[in-house]
Amino acid sequence: MSEITLAGLEKRYGDTLAVEDVSVTIDDGELLCLLGPSGSGKSTTLRMLAGLETPTDGEIRIGDEDVTDRPAYERTTATVFQDWALFPHKTVLENVAFGLKMQGIGKSERRKQAREMLERVRMGEYADDDPMNLSGGQKQRVALARSLAVNPDVLLLDEPLSNLDKRLSEDMQIELREIHAELEETFVHVTHDQDEAFTLADRIGIMADGNLVQVGEPNEVYENPKNRFIEGFLGDTNFVAGEVERTTTESIHVETELGREVDLPTTGDADALAEGESVALSLRPEVLSIESTDVAGSDGNAEGEQATPVRTDGSTTNAVVGTVENVLYRGSTIRYSVAVEDTSVFVERTVADSGAFDAGDEIRISWDGADVLAFRDDGSRVDL
Ligand code: ADP
Repeated sequence: MSEITLAGLEKRYGDTLAVEDVSVTIDDGELLCLLGPSGSGKSTTLRMLAGLETPTDGEIRIGDEDVTDRPAYERTTATVFQDWALFPHKTVLENVAFGLKMQGIGKSERRKQAREMLERVRMGEYADDDPMNLSGGQKQRVALARSLAVNPDVLLLDEPLSNLDKRLSEDMQIELREIHAELEETFVHVTHDQDEAFTLADRIGIMADGNLVQVGEPNEVYENPKNRFIEGFLGDTNFVAGEVERTTTESIHVETELGREVDLPTTGDADALAEGESVALSLRPEVLSIESTDVAGSDGNAEGEQATPVRTDGSTTNAVVGTVENVLYRGSTIRYSVAVEDTSVFVERTVADSGAFDAGDEIRISWDGADVLAFRDDGSRVDL
C-alpha cells in the first residue's frame, strides 16, 4: 500500500519560502507529474518526499505511516535524478545490483533480481557490458532499473529527461509510461515540460510560487484551468483584454481590444461578472477558425467591415477581420500573426489544410463563444 498524502507541506530556507502549501493525496500506483516553471518548488517538494529535506511544516504519509521526520534511508522511496550517473567501473548488472548489495542481499540472489529488472527495462542482453559504452537512452534505462531494483514503494523522478535531446526524451517518455504501467507502482515525476507531463501523467499537479495550484487529469487541467497562470502555462493562447459591457441571463457581453463586443454564453450565473469589470479572454489558437474575407464576403462582409456575430444551431459564433502581419512556418503548422484593431492575434493552420495566406491578406477569424475562457484581474477564472 503506497498511497502518499502530503498535508500542508511547507519548506523555508532562511527568508526563502521554497514551498508554501502543498496538499495532495497520490493514489497507490498512480503516476503524478509535478509541473511548473523553474523555481516553483517542484524539486523541493520531491526532496521532502524522498527524505532529503525536512519540511518546515506539514506532514508526509506513505501508506499508513507518518514518515515526515524519517531519513531517506528509512523510507521506501527511490529517487532518480537528472544526471542518471552510473558507476563507471562496474558492469551494467553490477550497477543494478548495487542497491541490493547495500541492503545485504547475497550475491546470487541480487544478481538474479538485478537480471530480472534489466529484462523489464529491455536491457537484459547488456548485463555484462561496460555502461560507458551504452547510448544515452540505454544508460537511462539502466539507471531506472538500478532505482527500481530495491523494490521501492514509490519512485521519485526529478527531471530525469531534461538533459536529453527532444527525440530521445519523447522515446523515453513512452518507455517510462510503459514501465509504470507494467510495475503498477506509485511514480512522482517532476518536470517543467508541459508536453512531457501530458504524455506521462495520470494526473498533473501544477505548481506556482511554492503552491500546488491545481491537480487533475491532463485534459481536465487543460480544459478547466483554475486561473490565468495555468491557462497561459499549459499552451500558447491569445489573452484579449476587455470590459464587461452588459450581462443577460444567457450571455455576458465584453467590449474588447479587438474593437468589437465578444459574447460569452453562460449557463446561468450571469452574476459571475459585474458590468464594468475588466477581464482577460483566452482565445486558444485551436478554437479559432480562419478564412479569406473573399469567402467570408457572402456573410455580408464584402466591404471588409468587422463581421457581426453569426448564430447557428444555438451556438454563438463571434468573428473579427484582421490583416496578416507575419507568417511563421513551424514544421507541420503555420502560425499567422494577425493585426486586429490595436492588438494582434495569432492563429494556426496545419500545413495540410488547404490554402495558405500571405502577409497583407485580410482574413476573418471566428470562434464559438462557448470555447472562450475568461479571467478576472486577480487571475481567477470566471465560472461561466
Ligand atoms: P523547481 O524545482 O520548481 O525549479 P525548487 O524547489 O528547486 O524549484 O526551488 C524553489 C525555490 O526555493 C527557488 O526559489 C530556489 O531558489 C529555492 N531553493 C531551493 N533549494 C534551496 C536551498 N537549498 N537553499 C535556498 N533556497 C533554495
